[in-house]
Amino acid sequence: MSLRTVAYVEDNPSNVEVFRQVLGLRPGLTLVTAGDGISGLALVRAHRPDLVVIDIDLPGMDGLELCRRLRADPQTAHIPKVALSANAMPRDVEQAHEAGFEAYLTKPMDVPALIALLDRLLPGPASPTGSPA
Ligand code: MN
Repeated sequence: MSLRTVAYVEDNPSNVEVFRQVLGLRPGLTLVTAGDGISGLALVRAHRPDLVVIDIDLPGMDGLELCRRLRADPQTAHIPKVALSANAMPRDVEQAHEAGFEAYLTKPMDVPALIALLDRLLPGPASPTGSPA
């Protein structure tokens, strides 16, 4: 089985636990996590995941800056980046898209929406409907 790796950068352990359980609903996905922006940058550079999910309010470097730095690095620029944030104002969403996020999900986590997004951004063995190109 070809494994896919998802990185989640989040400072709230209970959100990490919920996310871990959601990912468990899809076979073949490995989760790696970091609890702040600087660690998240190192995590993504080390693992080169297939998808990065980023909380916006992070200690140190926030999620917007982390997204910009990942985009600026040719080794991580191509990785799809999803914001997962409690901030739900239109300006928050706009700023996230400007920073380079492909999608914006709000907390509390909408599990069906998250699963649908995983299936869309991780086509292949993790998707029941995905077909190889
Ligand atoms: Mn946070």
